This record gives sequence, structure tokens and C-alpha cells, in this order.
Amino acid sequence: MFIAKEIQTAAYLFASILFILSLGGLSSQESAKRGVLYGIVGMIVAIIATVLGEGVSGQVYIIVAIAIASAIGLMLARKVEMTAMPQLVAILHSFVGLAAVLVGFGSYLDPHTHTLTGAAHSIHLWEVFIGVFIGAITFTGSIIAWGKLEGKVRSKALMYPGRHAVNIVLMITCVVLGVLYAQQEGTGGMLHLGIMTAIACFIGIMLVMAIGGGDMPVVVSMLNSYSGWAASAAGFMLGNDLLIVTGALVGSSGAILSIHMCHAMNRSFFSVILGGFGNAPASKGEAKVIEGEVTALNHEEVAGLLKEAKSVVIVPGYGMAVAKAQYPIYDMVQYMRKAGKNVRFAIHPVAGRLPGHMNVLLAEANVPYDIVMEMDEINDDMPDTDVVMVIGANDVVNPSAKDDPASSIYGMPVIEAWKAEKVIIMKRSMSAGYSGEDNPLFYKSNSEMLYGDAKDSVEKILSFLKA
Ligand code: NDP
Repeated sequence: MFIAKEIQTAAYLFASILFILSLGGLSSQESAKRGVLYGIVGMIVAIIATVLGEGVSGQVYIIVAIAIASAIGLMLARKVEMTAMPQLVAILHSFVGLAAVLVGFGSYLDPHTHTLTGAAHSIHLWEVFIGVFIGAITFTGSIIAWGKLEGKVRSKALMYPGRHAVNIVLMITCVVLGVLYAQQEGTGGMLHLGIMTAIACFIGIMLVMAIGGGDMPVVVSMLNSYSGWAASAAGFMLGNDLLIVTGALVGSSGAILSIHMCHAMNRSFFSVILGGFGNAPASKGEAKVIEGEVTALNHEEVAGLLKEAKSVVIVPGYGMAVAKAQYPIYDMVQYMRKAGKNVRFAIHPVAGRLPGHMNVLLAEANVPYDIVMEMDEINDDMPDTDVVMVIGANDVVNPSAKDDPASSIYGMPVIEAWKAEKVIIMKRSMSAGYSGEDNPLFYKSNSEMLYGDAKDSVEKILSFLKA
């Protein structure tokens, strides 16, 4: 059973509108669920309209493949921990990249496409070439990003002398290969296409390897954008308007997110997307020597400080996600607010391992939005704050970002926790955060460590508060 071309076009238009509404819905926590729902319905409409479209054969195989893939997707989504979500997103981006490469090769080998003539033929050849290029970069870049997030690839930036010159030579080689490939008859350009794919795979690896741990948030959103453009390129190759539109939506929203992330981290967008081009290497003098002594409190002493405090700011980080501490934290916050204290959350834009990671976790625990403050909204209040509780955060409260030019996170705006009267840092050890930089905050005279798992510590503090 096939549907008429007009019905398919109408369905594609409807799905495009749903995707736009979906993106709009995702812009705020209140409407996010609705946004996801629009996305699901849009995707169902898109799949049905494509599978039943004219000229599509072997529907049975497609349906079986979709069923198997959906079962795997469902299983993964149910199983994956919130802390492993960034890795999952990164690996899914790599699939989009691989799909674009395969579609490109398939389209190049498809005898139908070689019946095209003149400009249409040239345009198609370049669609394939550019689509495969973007796809290959997305594929390998996303695998490296997955490795870095999973801790399988070291998070420090890999720099080697002359790498910019090497990248430029590789890019020029790809352009030359493209020109030669476009001049070949039939499928004579396979070798050129293959060599370019290998080079693009290498560029993808080096691009992400060159980006240091602290700048990874931009890489995640940037690969999201690349995967969109790769899908869009696949849409051009297949002549599928909906894929072009959907890819462009993902590509441009990912690019906008990357720009926001760069802004939040005070980094140049182009320097990051070009693989750390112009990144400040650790050459701006020796790292500052950390002065001071580390002191620690126990749970009862922390509860005592909180009982005295009038204003408390909680700075959550990746450790809160690991410990799943958001629920007891909110219980503790509710208890303190009932006791008349001003308790708020301070959220750094790159806290955790995914854009919006902390906001999602706090929303999951039903924390009201009006006590969740952005870094810029709350930094000025720090000097008037009695106690700052840093719960499983590290890089986002590291003062080196402000005053140590030798630090890899220098220049990134951070939550200025040290300006409060007392800072309590809750983590399991003295180990560094994702960027690998030591944190002088732990050594300040107004800082106290509270060692242990964040969830366990918060539960103990709450029991002492209630006692
Ligand atoms: P960090 O990675 O800097 O620090 C997290 C801290 O949590 C660690 O020092 C760790 O210390 C502690 N921790 C881990 N598990 C627990 C636990 N169970 N209980 C208590 N503490 C725990 O996280 P931040 O959120 O401060 O900063 C995010 C970093 O990740 C930034 O460098 C950012 O650039 C990067 N990043 C962010 C992404 C994003 O999109 N948001 C994406 C990729 C990277 P210990 O082991 O001693 O307990």
C-alpha cells in the first residue's frame, strides 16, 4: 500500500511543524514534556509517511529493522543511568554520522543517480562528497567524545606541534580529492571518496582530541549540531525534504546551543569548533602554588553551621548526579526553608556532564524553579551568604578560573563560592574535577571539607538538623 505524493508532502509538513513546536517546548522546563511529546508524534508521522511513500520497496524488512532497533532503544533508555546520559547522546550522534556516510556511499553506487545529467549530476556528486565528509567527522569525533566522557580517553587536550598546519593540509587535500572525484565518470571516483572519508575520520578524531576536559560541553553541543547537518546532507542525497528540514533544525539549534555554551565559558566559538584553534596553551607562566591548609568537619558540625545560618546557597555539580542526591537535598532544603532560612540553588551553565544537567535533576526532585538561580543571578549575593554548600561540584567553583592564567579553565566564569562567610565542600576525596585542575578553594581559610558520598552526607546532615 502506497500513499500519494501529495499526502506524503502534507504529512512531512505536519511533522516539520511538530518538530518546530517540539524545539520550542524544550526551551523551558514547564513545557519540556509537551515538547518531547510533539517530537515523538512528529517522528511517528515522519516514519509512516516515508515507509509508505511511492517507490519504497521491502517494507517488511524495514518494519522488522525498525522493531528491532526500537526494542534496543527502549532497553537502552530504561537501563541507562542519568550519569551516563552524556555518553549515550555522544554515541547516538556517532550513529547519525555513520548513517550519513553509508547513505553517501549507497547513493554514489546507486545506478539511478548516474542517470542524472548536467548540473543536477554535479550537484548530486557534491551533495554526496560533502555529506560523507561531515558524516565521517561526526562519526569519529563523537566516538572520541564518548571515550572522553566515559573516561576511556584522557580528557586533557592532545596538542602536537604543527597540528594547525597538518589540519590545513588535510583540508586542502580533501578539496583537491573532491575536484578530482567530481570529474570521474560513473563510479570512478570511489577511490577519491574513500581516501577523503579516511582523512575526514582522522580530522574528526584530532578535532575532539585537541579539546580539553573543561571545554567538553561545547564539543557535546557542537557534535549535536554536526549530526544535524549530517542528517540534512543525507536528506539532500535521498531527495527527502523532511530529513533536510529536520537536520537543519537540529544543526542550527545545536549551533545556537554551542554559542551559548561558549558564551557561558568565555571561550571563542570558532576556536573551540576548529579543535582548540587559538586555545590558550599552558604557557602563561607557572601554575600558581596553592597556599593554605585543608580542614574538615563532620556531619554534626555542618548541621550546627546550617542551624546558625540565615542564608544558604547550594552549588550542585556532577557528584550530585553520581550520588543521586537531589531527592535528600530537596528534603533538606524544604526543612531549612520551613525554619525560615533563605535557601537557594546556584547553577553553573556547564555543571554536570550535559547542558542543563543540574536543572533536569532538580526538576526531577520537584524543586521549584524560583529557588533555582543561574550563576549570573546569584554571584553578586555571595558576600552576603552565610553558608555555601558545594555538593559534588569542583571545576565550577574553582577560583583558578579567575586568577591563575596557567590553568586550563582560566577565563571561564565560575560561581564565586569563596566570597561567602563559610564554604562546605562535600565530596569523597581531594581528587580533581573533570578538567583535571586542582582546586584552591579547598585550601581557603573559610572552607571546610565534608568527605563522603553526597547522598549519604546529606541524609546524615538532615537527621542532625532534625535532632
Ligand atoms: P567536576 O567534574 O568538576 O567535579 C565533580 C566532583 O564530584 C568531583 O571532584 C568528585 O570528587 C565529586 N563526586 C563524584 N562522585 C561523588 C559522590 N558520589 N558524592 C560526592 N561527590 C562526588 O564537576 P562540575 O559539575 O563542578 O563541573 C563540570 C565539569 O565537567 C566542567 O569541567 C565541565 O566543563 C565538564 N563538562 C561539562 C559538560 C556539560 O555539558 N555540562 C559536558 C562535558 C564536560 P570525588 O571523586 O572526590 O568525590
